[in-house]
Amino acid sequence: MTNFFSSDFKLGILGGGQLGKMMLYDTRKYDIQTYVLDPNPNAPCKIGCDYFQLGNLMDYETVYNFGKKVDVLTFEIETVNIKALAQLEKEGKKVYPSAKTLENIQNKGKQKLFYKENGIPTAKFIRFSNKAHLTEGITSNKMKLPFVWKSTQGGYDGKGVSIVKSGADLAKLPDVECIIEELVDYKNELAVIVARNPQGEIKTYPVVEMEFHPEANQVEYVICPARIDSKIADEAIKVAKKVSKAFEHVGILAVEMFLTKNDKILVNEVAPRPHNSGHYSIEASYTNQFEQHIRAILDLPLGDTESKLGGIMVNLVGIEGHSGDVLYKNIEEIMKMKGVTPHIYGKKQTRPFRKMGHVTIVHEDINEARKIAEKVKKTIKVISK
Ligand code: ADP
Repeated sequence: MTNFFSSDFKLGILGGGQLGKMMLYDTRKYDIQTYVLDPNPNAPCKIGCDYFQLGNLMDYETVYNFGKKVDVLTFEIETVNIKALAQLEKEGKKVYPSAKTLENIQNKGKQKLFYKENGIPTAKFIRFSNKAHLTEGITSNKMKLPFVWKSTQGGYDGKGVSIVKSGADLAKLPDVECIIEELVDYKNELAVIVARNPQGEIKTYPVVEMEFHPEANQVEYVICPARIDSKIADEAIKVAKKVSKAFEHVGILAVEMFLTKNDKILVNEVAPRPHNSGHYSIEASYTNQFEQHIRAILDLPLGDTESKLGGIMVNLVGIEGHSGDVLYKNIEEIMKMKGVTPHIYGKKQTRPFRKMGHVTIVHEDINEARKIAEKVKKTIKVISK
Protein backbone atom coordinates (compact mmCIF):
# COMPACT_ATOMS: atom_id res chain seq x y z
CA MET A 1 0.00 0.00 0.00
CA THR A 2 1.39 3.33 -1.05
CA ASN A 3 1.63 6.03 1.54
CA PHE A 4 0.33 9.18 -0.12
CA PHE A 5 0.24 11.47 2.91
CA SER A 6 3.25 13.60 3.89
CA SER A 7 5.42 11.34 1.76
CA ASP A 8 7.49 11.36 -1.46
CA PHE A 9 4.47 10.30 -3.48
CA LYS A 10 3.79 12.63 -6.43
CA LEU A 11 0.45 13.29 -8.09
CA GLY A 12 0.68 14.83 -11.57
CA ILE A 13 -2.11 17.00 -12.95
CA LEU A 14 -2.33 17.91 -16.63
CA GLY A 15 -3.90 21.37 -16.82
CA GLY A 16 -3.60 24.21 -14.35
CA GLY A 17 -6.94 26.00 -14.56
CA GLN A 18 -9.62 26.54 -11.93
CA LEU A 19 -10.53 22.86 -11.71
CA GLY A 20 -6.94 22.02 -10.91
CA LYS A 21 -6.75 24.88 -8.44
CA MET A 22 -9.79 23.58 -6.55
CA MET A 23 -8.31 20.06 -6.59
CA LEU A 24 -5.18 21.49 -4.97
CA TYR A 25 -7.19 22.74 -1.97
CA ASP A 26 -7.75 19.07 -1.21
CA THR A 27 -4.26 17.78 -1.99
CA ARG A 28 -3.11 20.46 0.47
CA LYS A 29 -5.68 19.23 3.00
CA TYR A 30 -4.18 15.73 2.67
CA ASP A 31 -0.58 16.95 2.28
CA ILE A 32 -0.12 15.14 -1.02
CA GLN A 33 2.66 16.44 -3.30
CA THR A 34 1.54 17.74 -6.69
CA TYR A 35 3.12 18.48 -10.06
CA VAL A 36 1.13 20.58 -12.55
CA LEU A 37 1.68 21.09 -16.29
CA ASP A 38 0.05 24.04 -18.09
CA PRO A 39 0.91 26.33 -21.03
CA ASN A 40 -0.03 29.53 -19.17
CA PRO A 41 2.66 31.06 -16.91
CA ASN A 42 -0.12 32.64 -14.82
CA ALA A 43 -2.27 29.50 -14.52
CA PRO A 44 -4.57 29.50 -11.45
CA CYS A 45 -2.80 26.32 -10.18
CA LYS A 46 0.60 27.92 -9.99
CA ILE A 47 0.21 29.12 -6.42
CA GLY A 48 -1.11 25.84 -5.01
CA CYS A 49 1.09 23.06 -6.40
CA ASP A 50 4.54 21.91 -5.27
CA TYR A 51 6.07 21.99 -8.73
CA PHE A 52 4.77 23.90 -11.76
CA GLN A 53 5.92 23.17 -15.30
CA LEU A 54 5.16 25.27 -18.36
CA GLY A 55 4.30 23.21 -21.42
CA ASN A 56 1.94 22.24 -24.20
CA LEU A 57 -0.63 19.62 -23.10
CA MET A 58 -1.02 18.31 -26.66
CA ASP A 59 2.70 17.74 -27.20
CA TYR A 60 3.71 14.07 -26.93
CA GLU A 61 7.24 14.58 -25.56
CA THR A 62 6.15 17.23 -23.04
CA VAL A 63 3.32 15.12 -21.59
CA TYR A 64 5.39 11.92 -21.65
CA ASN A 65 8.38 13.48 -19.86
CA PHE A 66 6.12 15.16 -17.32
CA GLY A 67 4.32 11.86 -16.67
CA LYS A 68 7.66 10.11 -16.01
CA LYS A 69 8.26 12.40 -13.03
CA VAL A 70 5.10 11.47 -11.13
CA ASP A 71 3.56 8.34 -9.57
CA VAL A 72 -0.08 8.83 -10.60
CA LEU A 73 -1.19 11.06 -13.44
CA THR A 74 -4.60 12.72 -13.86
CA PHE A 75 -5.99 15.65 -15.87
CA GLU A 76 -8.37 18.53 -15.35
CA ILE A 77 -8.94 19.16 -19.07
CA GLU A 78 -9.65 16.67 -21.88
CA THR A 79 -7.46 18.21 -24.57
CA VAL A 80 -4.26 16.39 -23.68
CA ASN A 81 -2.01 14.08 -25.73
CA ILE A 82 -3.57 10.62 -25.43
CA LYS A 83 -0.69 8.80 -27.15
CA ALA A 84 1.64 9.96 -24.39
CA LEU A 85 -0.83 8.73 -21.75
CA ALA A 86 -1.07 5.34 -23.48
CA GLN A 87 2.74 5.01 -23.61
CA LEU A 88 3.06 5.90 -19.92
CA GLU A 89 0.46 3.25 -19.06
CA LYS A 90 2.39 0.70 -21.12
CA GLU A 91 5.44 1.46 -19.01
CA GLY A 92 3.42 0.80 -15.85
CA LYS A 93 2.43 4.33 -14.87
CA LYS A 94 -0.99 4.77 -13.31
CA VAL A 95 -3.06 7.17 -15.43
CA TYR A 96 -6.61 7.93 -14.27
CA PRO A 97 -8.96 8.30 -16.08
CA SER A 98 -7.18 5.93 -18.48
CA ALA A 99 -6.02 6.71 -22.04
CA LYS A 100 -8.70 4.34 -23.35
CA THR A 101 -11.50 6.06 -21.41
CA LEU A 102 -10.35 9.48 -22.59
CA GLU A 103 -10.09 8.26 -26.17
CA ASN A 104 -13.74 7.23 -26.12
CA ILE A 105 -14.73 10.67 -24.83
CA GLN A 106 -12.38 13.20 -26.45
CA ASN A 107 -14.01 13.02 -29.88
CA LYS A 108 -17.75 13.77 -29.62
CA GLY A 109 -18.53 11.51 -32.61
CA LYS A 110 -16.75 8.59 -30.99
CA GLN A 111 -18.46 9.34 -27.67
CA LYS A 112 -21.92 9.24 -29.26
CA LEU A 113 -21.08 5.99 -31.04
CA PHE A 114 -19.99 4.55 -27.68
CA TYR A 115 -23.43 5.31 -26.21
CA LYS A 116 -25.12 3.63 -29.14
CA GLU A 117 -22.94 0.52 -28.87
CA ASN A 118 -23.43 0.29 -25.11
CA GLY A 119 -27.20 0.72 -25.04
CA ILE A 120 -27.04 4.13 -23.36
CA PRO A 121 -29.97 6.39 -24.27
CA THR A 122 -28.88 9.42 -26.31
CA ALA A 123 -30.29 11.73 -29.02
CA LYS A 124 -30.15 10.41 -32.61
CA PHE A 125 -27.12 11.59 -34.51
CA ILE A 126 -25.09 11.27 -37.72
CA ARG A 127 -21.34 11.74 -38.00
CA PHE A 128 -19.70 13.61 -40.90
CA SER A 129 -16.00 13.86 -41.66
CA ASN A 130 -16.24 17.36 -43.20
CA LYS A 131 -18.61 20.07 -44.40
CA ALA A 132 -18.98 18.72 -47.94
CA HIS A 133 -20.24 15.41 -46.53
CA LEU A 134 -22.59 17.26 -44.22
CA THR A 135 -24.07 19.33 -47.06
CA GLU A 136 -24.44 16.17 -49.15
CA GLY A 137 -26.18 14.44 -46.22
CA ILE A 138 -28.63 17.29 -45.82
CA THR A 139 -29.48 17.48 -49.53
CA SER A 140 -30.14 13.76 -49.56
CA ASN A 141 -32.48 14.33 -46.60
CA LYS A 142 -30.69 12.21 -44.00
CA MET A 143 -31.52 14.78 -41.33
CA LYS A 144 -34.13 17.53 -41.52
CA LEU A 145 -33.79 21.08 -40.22
CA PRO A 146 -33.71 22.20 -37.48
CA PHE A 147 -30.92 20.19 -35.84
CA VAL A 148 -27.97 20.65 -33.51
CA TRP A 149 -24.50 20.80 -35.06
CA LYS A 150 -21.43 19.94 -32.96
CA SER A 151 -17.80 19.95 -33.92
CA THR A 152 -16.34 16.61 -32.79
CA GLN A 153 -13.15 18.11 -31.43
CA GLY A 154 -12.09 21.11 -29.43
CA GLY A 155 -15.61 22.22 -28.49
CA TYR A 156 -15.77 23.69 -24.98
CA ASP A 157 -18.51 25.61 -23.16
CA GLY A 158 -20.89 25.79 -26.10
CA LYS A 159 -18.35 27.12 -28.60
CA GLY A 160 -18.46 24.10 -30.88
CA VAL A 161 -22.27 23.85 -30.82
CA SER A 162 -24.88 25.55 -33.07
CA ILE A 163 -28.57 25.14 -33.62
CA VAL A 164 -29.07 25.04 -37.38
CA LYS A 165 -32.48 26.29 -38.46
CA SER A 166 -31.90 27.45 -42.02
CA GLY A 167 -29.64 27.18 -45.07
CA ALA A 168 -28.04 30.44 -43.98
CA ASP A 169 -27.10 28.91 -40.59
CA LEU A 170 -25.68 25.92 -42.42
CA ALA A 171 -23.52 28.12 -44.65
CA LYS A 172 -21.90 29.71 -41.58
CA LEU A 173 -20.61 26.41 -40.13
CA PRO A 174 -16.86 25.77 -40.22
CA ASP A 175 -15.40 22.97 -42.34
CA VAL A 176 -14.53 20.43 -39.64
CA GLU A 177 -15.42 16.89 -38.60
CA CYS A 178 -18.83 17.10 -36.93
CA ILE A 179 -21.97 15.38 -35.76
CA ILE A 180 -25.50 16.53 -36.25
CA GLU A 181 -28.04 15.61 -33.63
CA GLU A 182 -31.80 15.76 -33.42
CA LEU A 183 -32.95 18.84 -31.53
CA VAL A 184 -34.22 17.48 -28.21
CA ASP A 185 -37.39 19.04 -26.86
CA TYR A 186 -36.41 18.90 -23.22
CA LYS A 187 -38.00 19.97 -19.95
CA ASN A 188 -34.78 20.08 -18.02
CA GLU A 189 -31.05 19.66 -18.25
CA LEU A 190 -29.78 17.44 -15.46
CA ALA A 191 -26.37 16.17 -14.40
CA VAL A 192 -25.09 13.40 -12.17
CA ILE A 193 -21.55 13.31 -10.82
CA VAL A 194 -20.27 9.74 -10.51
CA ALA A 195 -17.14 8.68 -8.63
CA ARG A 196 -15.52 5.30 -9.32
CA ASN A 197 -12.22 3.89 -8.08
CA PRO A 198 -10.00 1.24 -9.75
CA GLN A 199 -11.58 -1.49 -7.61
CA GLY A 200 -14.94 -0.59 -9.13
CA GLU A 201 -16.44 0.98 -6.00
CA ILE A 202 -18.97 3.48 -7.28
CA LYS A 203 -20.88 6.39 -5.73
CA THR A 204 -23.15 9.03 -7.20
CA TYR A 205 -24.00 12.54 -6.06
CA PRO A 206 -27.63 13.66 -6.05
CA VAL A 207 -29.08 14.73 -9.41
CA VAL A 208 -28.58 18.44 -10.11
CA GLU A 209 -30.66 20.65 -12.32
CA MET A 210 -29.40 23.35 -14.65
CA GLU A 211 -31.69 26.34 -14.73
CA PHE A 212 -31.30 28.47 -17.86
CA HIS A 213 -31.82 32.15 -18.43
CA PRO A 214 -35.11 32.35 -20.35
CA GLU A 215 -33.64 34.47 -23.18
CA ALA A 216 -29.83 34.27 -23.09
CA ASN A 217 -29.75 30.42 -23.20
CA GLN A 218 -26.96 30.43 -20.61
CA VAL A 219 -26.93 28.27 -17.48
CA GLU A 220 -27.77 30.60 -14.63
CA TYR A 221 -28.07 28.27 -11.67
CA VAL A 222 -26.99 24.71 -10.84
CA ILE A 223 -29.42 23.46 -8.22
CA CYS A 224 -28.85 20.49 -5.87
CA PRO A 225 -31.03 18.56 -5.42
CA ALA A 226 -32.89 18.90 -8.73
CA ARG A 227 -36.56 19.76 -8.28
CA ILE A 228 -37.76 16.61 -10.03
CA ASP A 229 -39.78 13.51 -9.22
CA SER A 230 -37.84 10.89 -7.23
CA LYS A 231 -38.55 8.20 -9.84
CA ILE A 232 -36.92 10.35 -12.51
CA ALA A 233 -33.99 11.05 -10.20
CA ASP A 234 -33.53 7.29 -9.63
CA GLU A 235 -33.57 6.69 -13.38
CA ALA A 236 -30.99 9.45 -13.96
CA ILE A 237 -28.71 7.90 -11.32
CA LYS A 238 -29.11 4.45 -12.86
CA VAL A 239 -28.17 5.74 -16.31
CA ALA A 240 -25.18 7.70 -14.93
CA LYS A 241 -23.81 4.59 -13.17
CA LYS A 242 -24.18 2.59 -16.35
CA VAL A 243 -22.22 5.24 -18.26
CA SER A 244 -19.38 5.28 -15.72
CA LYS A 245 -19.12 1.46 -15.73
CA ALA A 246 -19.28 1.25 -19.53
CA PHE A 247 -16.36 3.69 -19.86
CA GLU A 248 -14.54 1.83 -17.04
CA HIS A 249 -14.03 5.33 -15.78
CA VAL A 250 -11.84 6.03 -12.76
CA GLY A 251 -12.19 9.36 -10.97
CA ILE A 252 -15.01 11.87 -11.23
CA LEU A 253 -17.27 11.64 -14.27
CA ALA A 254 -19.94 14.28 -14.88
CA VAL A 255 -22.85 12.90 -16.89
CA GLU A 256 -24.95 15.62 -18.51
CA MET A 257 -28.47 14.61 -19.48
CA PHE A 258 -31.71 15.87 -20.97
CA LEU A 259 -35.05 15.10 -19.41
CA THR A 260 -37.42 15.09 -22.36
CA LYS A 261 -41.01 16.32 -22.33
CA ASN A 262 -42.02 12.61 -22.15
CA ASP A 263 -39.87 12.07 -19.05
CA LYS A 264 -37.15 10.13 -20.85
CA ILE A 265 -33.51 10.49 -19.88
CA LEU A 266 -31.06 11.05 -22.75
CA VAL A 267 -27.32 11.36 -22.15
CA ASN A 268 -25.99 14.52 -23.79
CA GLU A 269 -22.29 14.28 -23.02
CA VAL A 270 -19.81 13.48 -20.27
CA ALA A 271 -16.82 15.23 -18.77
CA PRO A 272 -14.16 12.83 -17.37
CA ARG A 273 -13.13 15.16 -14.53
CA PRO A 274 -14.56 17.39 -11.81
CA HIS A 275 -17.17 19.62 -13.40
CA ASN A 276 -18.98 22.92 -13.05
CA SER A 277 -22.18 21.07 -12.13
CA GLY A 278 -20.42 19.70 -9.02
CA HIS A 279 -18.97 22.93 -7.63
CA TYR A 280 -21.86 23.26 -5.17
CA SER A 281 -20.34 20.21 -3.39
CA ILE A 282 -17.47 22.26 -1.91
CA GLU A 283 -19.89 23.87 0.56
CA ALA A 284 -22.92 21.58 0.41
CA SER A 285 -21.64 17.98 0.48
CA TYR A 286 -19.89 15.77 3.02
CA THR A 287 -17.18 15.05 0.44
CA ASN A 288 -16.68 17.57 -2.33
CA GLN A 289 -16.06 16.42 -5.91
CA PHE A 290 -12.36 17.39 -5.86
CA GLU A 291 -11.55 15.42 -2.71
CA GLN A 292 -13.60 12.58 -4.16
CA HIS A 293 -11.61 12.64 -7.40
CA ILE A 294 -8.37 12.34 -5.42
CA ARG A 295 -9.78 9.50 -3.32
CA ALA A 296 -10.97 7.70 -6.48
CA ILE A 297 -7.75 7.94 -8.51
CA LEU A 298 -5.61 6.90 -5.52
CA ASP A 299 -7.89 3.89 -4.93
CA LEU A 300 -8.82 5.15 -1.46
CA PRO A 301 -12.28 4.58 0.04
CA LEU A 302 -14.82 6.92 -1.57
CA GLY A 303 -16.37 9.57 0.66
CA ASP A 304 -20.01 10.28 1.43
CA THR A 305 -21.79 11.97 -1.50
CA GLU A 306 -24.83 13.12 0.49
CA SER A 307 -25.53 16.82 0.88
CA LYS A 308 -25.47 18.52 4.28
CA LEU A 309 -27.63 21.36 2.90
CA GLY A 310 -29.32 22.41 -0.31
CA GLY A 311 -26.83 24.07 -2.63
CA ILE A 312 -26.99 26.38 -5.62
CA MET A 313 -24.12 27.51 -7.78
CA VAL A 314 -24.00 30.68 -9.84
CA ASN A 315 -21.22 31.09 -12.39
CA LEU A 316 -19.31 34.37 -12.39
CA VAL A 317 -18.60 35.17 -16.00
CA GLY A 318 -17.17 38.36 -17.49
CA ILE A 319 -19.94 40.70 -18.59
CA GLU A 320 -20.21 41.92 -22.15
CA GLY A 321 -18.35 45.08 -23.11
CA HIS A 322 -15.62 44.55 -20.48
CA SER A 323 -12.10 43.30 -21.22
CA GLY A 324 -8.99 43.85 -19.11
CA ASP A 325 -7.94 43.80 -15.46
CA VAL A 326 -10.79 42.26 -13.50
CA LEU A 327 -12.90 43.84 -10.77
CA TYR A 328 -15.58 41.95 -8.80
CA LYS A 329 -18.10 44.74 -8.34
CA ASN A 330 -20.33 44.49 -5.20
CA ILE A 331 -18.59 41.34 -3.91
CA GLU A 332 -18.88 42.79 -0.38
CA GLU A 333 -22.66 43.00 -0.80
CA ILE A 334 -23.08 39.30 -1.58
CA MET A 335 -20.72 38.37 1.26
CA LYS A 336 -23.25 39.86 3.68
CA MET A 337 -25.90 37.36 2.54
CA LYS A 338 -26.60 34.14 4.45
CA GLY A 339 -24.82 31.01 3.23
CA VAL A 340 -23.02 32.75 0.38
CA THR A 341 -19.42 31.93 -0.56
CA PRO A 342 -17.64 33.42 -3.58
CA HIS A 343 -14.85 31.52 -5.34
CA ILE A 344 -12.40 33.57 -7.37
CA TYR A 345 -10.36 31.54 -9.85
CA GLY A 346 -7.38 33.85 -10.11
CA LYS A 347 -7.59 34.90 -13.76
CA LYS A 348 -6.30 38.44 -13.80
CA GLN A 349 -8.01 39.49 -17.02
CA THR A 350 -11.73 39.39 -17.72
CA ARG A 351 -13.34 38.93 -21.15
CA PRO A 352 -17.01 38.67 -22.10
CA PHE A 353 -18.35 35.27 -20.91
CA ARG A 354 -14.98 34.08 -19.52
CA LYS A 355 -15.52 31.90 -16.43
CA MET A 356 -13.88 33.97 -13.69
CA GLY A 357 -15.34 32.35 -10.60
CA HIS A 358 -18.52 31.04 -9.05
CA VAL A 359 -20.67 31.64 -5.99
CA THR A 360 -22.24 28.95 -3.85
CA ILE A 361 -25.40 29.50 -1.84
CA VAL A 362 -26.31 26.94 0.83
CA HIS A 363 -29.53 26.77 2.81
CA GLU A 364 -31.67 24.12 4.57
CA ASP A 365 -34.46 25.09 2.21
CA ILE A 366 -33.60 24.93 -1.50
CA ASN A 367 -36.37 27.41 -2.38
CA GLU A 368 -34.83 29.97 -0.01
CA ALA A 369 -31.43 29.26 -1.55
CA ARG A 370 -32.93 29.93 -4.97
CA LYS A 371 -34.18 33.35 -3.83
CA ILE A 372 -30.78 34.29 -2.42
CA ALA A 373 -29.13 33.03 -5.62
CA GLU A 374 -31.23 35.43 -7.64
CA LYS A 375 -30.11 38.32 -5.42
CA VAL A 376 -26.48 37.23 -5.81
CA LYS A 377 -26.84 37.08 -9.57
CA LYS A 378 -28.34 40.58 -9.72
CA THR A 379 -25.75 42.09 -7.37
CA ILE A 380 -22.27 40.91 -8.29
CA LYS A 381 -20.81 41.89 -11.67
CA VAL A 382 -17.51 40.85 -13.22
CA ILE A 383 -16.21 43.98 -14.94
CA SER A 384 -12.88 45.48 -15.97
CA LYS A 385 -11.27 48.29 -13.97
P1 ADP B 1 -20.45 21.78 -24.73
O1 ADP B 1 -19.46 20.68 -24.85
O2 ADP B 1 -20.06 23.00 -25.44
O3 ADP B 1 -20.93 21.99 -23.32
P2 ADP B 1 -23.05 20.48 -25.24
O4 ADP B 1 -23.13 19.27 -26.06
O5 ADP B 1 -23.24 20.33 -23.77
O6 ADP B 1 -21.71 21.26 -25.59
O7 ADP B 1 -24.13 21.52 -25.74
C1 ADP B 1 -24.29 22.82 -25.17
C2 ADP B 1 -25.75 23.12 -24.96
O8 ADP B 1 -26.47 23.06 -26.19
C3 ADP B 1 -26.45 22.10 -24.07
O9 ADP B 1 -26.26 22.39 -22.72
C4 ADP B 1 -27.90 22.28 -24.51
O10 ADP B 1 -28.48 23.43 -23.90
C5 ADP B 1 -27.76 22.51 -26.00
N1 ADP B 1 -27.89 21.23 -26.75
C6 ADP B 1 -26.90 20.35 -27.01
N2 ADP B 1 -27.34 19.28 -27.69
C7 ADP B 1 -28.65 19.47 -27.87
C8 ADP B 1 -29.70 18.70 -28.50
N3 ADP B 1 -29.46 17.55 -29.13
N4 ADP B 1 -30.95 19.21 -28.45
C9 ADP B 1 -31.23 20.39 -27.85
N5 ADP B 1 -30.30 21.14 -27.26
C10 ADP B 1 -29.03 20.72 -27.25
